[in-house]
Amino acid sequence: EDELAAEGSEELSARAAVVTVMGHVDHGKTRLLDSIRKANVTAGEAGGITQHIGAYQVHVDHEGVERGLTFIDTPGHEAFTAMRARGAKVTDIAVLVVAADDGVMPQTVEALNHAKAANVPVVVAVNKMDKEGASPDKVRGQLAEYGLVPEEYGGDTMFVNVSALNNLHIDELLEAVLLTADAALELTANPNKAARGVAIEANLDKGRGAVATVLVQSGTLRVGDNMVAGTAHGRVRAMFDEHGETVKEALPSRPVQVLGLSSVPRAGDTFLSTSDDRTARQIAEKREAVERNAQLAKRRKRISLEDFDQAVAEGKIDTLNLILKGDVSGAVEALEDALLKIDVGADVQLRVIHRGVGAITQNDVNLATVDNAVILGFNVRPAERVTDLADREGVDMRFYSVIYAAIDDIEAALKGMLKPEYEEAALGSAEVREVFRSSKFGSIAGSIVRSGLIRRNAKARLVRDGNVVADNLTIESLKRFKDDATEVRDGFECGIGLGSFNDIREGDSIETWEMREIPRS
Ligand code: GDP
Repeated sequence: EDELAAEGSEELSARAAVVTVMGHVDHGKTRLLDSIRKANVTAGEAGGITQHIGAYQVHVDHEGVERGLTFIDTPGHEAFTAMRARGAKVTDIAVLVVAADDGVMPQTVEALNHAKAANVPVVVAVNKMDKEGASPDKVRGQLAEYGLVPEEYGGDTMFVNVSALNNLHIDELLEAVLLTADAALELTANPNKAARGVAIEANLDKGRGAVATVLVQSGTLRVGDNMVAGTAHGRVRAMFDEHGETVKEALPSRPVQVLGLSSVPRAGDTFLSTSDDRTARQIAEKREAVERNAQLAKRRKRISLEDFDQAVAEGKIDTLNLILKGDVSGAVEALEDALLKIDVGADVQLRVIHRGVGAITQNDVNLATVDNAVILGFNVRPAERVTDLADREGVDMRFYSVIYAAIDDIEAALKGMLKPEYEEAALGSAEVREVFRSSKFGSIAGSIVRSGLIRRNAKARLVRDGNVVADNLTIESLKRFKDDATEVRDGFECGIGLGSFNDIREGDSIETWEMREIPRS
């Protein structure tokens, strides 16, 4: 990857500063982001309509020169921290919003500390100036104590009084951001090389597949480029800006929505464009392997049912601690009774350290972390936050809706007979050149393999103009000329049959994958 970064000549051009808005809840971050976006929409831009894509760029007239500023459109330091936690440096400058009627609050200080830790200069927007009881001087005094000394007191932090509600002094705020950026930072990047940057947000769209907003940090991203973002890869099919307009290329500091990735990257994942699809895929696979290993290593720290047997054998543990959660108390009791009846042999014992009715909570996960326990949920599911915590802590959670399945699992764990886990692994893709109809086999897609390989009996999805038309199909027949083939590789032509699925058209692409066993090293 570093080799790719070095590619191209170092011709540095000015780029827009990337700005994050932070501050205490309800102090007006969202509103401020809205008014900045609106204040800046010129008449010519798509009728003034903007869309939320996770980031947007505005243009500011600064001493007769038009300058750009890129705003990350997710307020709050959670997003900022999440991206930093993933190793991405996205923000050049932070706007700290403080409501003038409320003053400095706990999250104001938190946000400030995050900016300090990331070494990001701060501009203070003293908001809600329209409100009775607004006290901008008090805010200045309070923040001075935290080291943000206003310019007018002899410090070097710019404070601007604004009202996001009435669009008051938004231009002055943007001006202050520019001045602070110019004073503190060297904002340049080389546009003449392969693009690199960060994914800001992403989601899976039913029609369009993976949709990711990326921020280009160096180089230029173009439609048709191959790219890898986190562990997702693909070819850029189309790009859109925050007005929903198509874009052919994106220069440094430009956020764009990208279509064409194989899966959904996470906020903070870095991306890079590559010379060809194969390289993109290889990097994606390597990243995936690294990530999986990191996850396994994390999991190994704690006891999971998989490791239990071995841990016992190695004499590291002799007790399997369990936390039982269920939807009704009768079920929890029945589960506990049945579990305690399992013949675990003389060397080990099962211990239920906590039981309860209701959803699995963060508290349960914390308890599991401390006591090295496995959590069994009977007809209950954890909130997403709880799942994230469990992942981070490497806590094994298992969910059942029939008691004997839970018993089987625990017994199997005790006997080292757990069923393997599987995951989806991309194999390759083929482009449909021509479609033949056969009365015996239905539609046969005369195709050329564009990446990886196509394997008979593998799973497939059909993609048309960037949209997934059908998923979970099977490559039921595969031929090279007249002969049946088991596999056809990159660059070769073949005939593909998708069983009873017949809606195949010229220009479609067939992406294939198979379920692969997750290694338990
Ligand atoms: P966030 O939690 O920081 O994103 O805050 P919001 O942008 O959601 O604003 C919280 C509340 O304050 C909303 O009801 C806004 O309409 C209101 N608000 C935001 N800015 C102003 C302002 O400048 N003046 C007044 N009076 N209300 C504001």
